[in-house]
Amino acid sequence: MKSISILGSTGSIGTQTLDIVREHPQQFRVVGLAAGSNLTLLAQQIKEFKPEIVAIRDQENLSSLKNLLGNLDYKPTLIAGSEGICEVARYGDAQSVVTGIVGCAGLLPTISAIEAGKDIALANKETLIAGGPVVLPLVEKYGVKLFPADSEHSAIFQCLQGVPDKGLRKIILTASGGSFRDLPVEKLASVTVKDALKHPNWSMGQKITIDSATLMNKGLEVIEAHYLFGVDYDDIDIVIHPQSIIHSMIELQDTSVLAQLGWADMRLPLLYALSYPDRIYTNWESLDLVKVGSLTFREPDHKKYPCMQLAYHAGREGGCLPAVLNAANEQAVALFLEEKISFLDIPRLIETVCDRFSGQNKTTPTLDDIIGADQWARKQVLESLKVLV
Ligand code: NAD
Ligand code: MG
Repeated sequence: MKSISILGSTGSIGTQTLDIVREHPQQFRVVGLAAGSNLTLLAQQIKEFKPEIVAIRDQENLSSLKNLLGNLDYKPTLIAGSEGICEVARYGDAQSVVTGIVGCAGLLPTISAIEAGKDIALANKETLIAGGPVVLPLVEKYGVKLFPADSEHSAIFQCLQGVPDKGLRKIILTASGGSFRDLPVEKLASVTVKDALKHPNWSMGQKITIDSATLMNKGLEVIEAHYLFGVDYDDIDIVIHPQSIIHSMIELQDTSVLAQLGWADMRLPLLYALSYPDRIYTNWESLDLVKVGSLTFREPDHKKYPCMQLAYHAGREGGCLPAVLNAANEQAVALFLEEKISFLDIPRLIETVCDRFSGQNKTTPTLDDIIGADQWARKQVLESLKVLV
């Protein structure tokens, strides 16, 4: 029996992790839950999974949550605020913490979990992208494991099992191509939020669905792969694979290529991040390659989707620039979702802010430098917006 805590329990990653716990009550037990919104769902989760501790982001929602819970047959600790979320992350005998919070808001709770000696099932890629230079040394210092739960990185991690040190030559990240993969570039200027939220293969939270449509998600995943597997940016490629059946590949020194395949279902990478090195039997539908029919591949279009190159550039520069790129993206995506900017403004704003940062970077930033860069970039996006409108 493994005890786990879930940050972002009401989101896409959180609810799918709870589906796994529901299906495997002999293997997993929930110790802590944390969420930002959706109190009704959180209350249901508390009643069903009986965690020892629960945190919500906003203090003013604590009494509503208590009301929704009514008279429980046990007494969980209920807390609120960002310190409360960190408390859940470090709490009790949980062995693993699933990071399903969206955005850089996941950074401090992830650090709390690491400092408390918890292994991390890492879905919240923004944490590693922005905080890589401080998170990785902490992982080392506290001797914890960082298990990728992002489907591409899980695929790479699965392929790497049994590959000797220095055996890896290259990573090939697959990308579905997002909502607009078949739309001509001239039409991108007028796409709506509703169009962008229609992902062809995956059902995910809003922010990552927009990131998939701009292909920034793949750019962020390049940086994530660099930090997770220590591979040079020159050795991380992207290939568009519209069927999302191959979740990524690795090329070995002798040119052998290994791939991991499966339906587009996040439960598998989440399960492996929690069960590693074991393989747990599930009754999920087996992959049927005949039903899939064909697997196709094409080159990514960097003109249509400039975000990938922006991410490669930020990753190569390192230091705080990935944090700036990530925060500018978060802010720009939030503005797009609020219908305050157009789809094509997203890469424009990110590029402007990243360019403006040049000359201020630090090679080995502290946590304060990273948080400062994140806040600076968000403000810069809002400033640039005034120029745009
Ligand atoms: P989501 O929007 O569906 O869920 C986010 C969760 O975080 C919700 O429970 C929300 O209440 C909570 N939250 C938001 N801000 C918070 C805060 N400040 N404090 C505490 N809780 C907060 O997002 P998602 O799609 O589940 O994505 C979560 C993370 O996983 C993202 O980093 C995303 O990039 C990554 N990821 C998701 C998928 C997927 O299939 N959904 C796949 C790969 C990676
Ligand atoms: Mg992914």
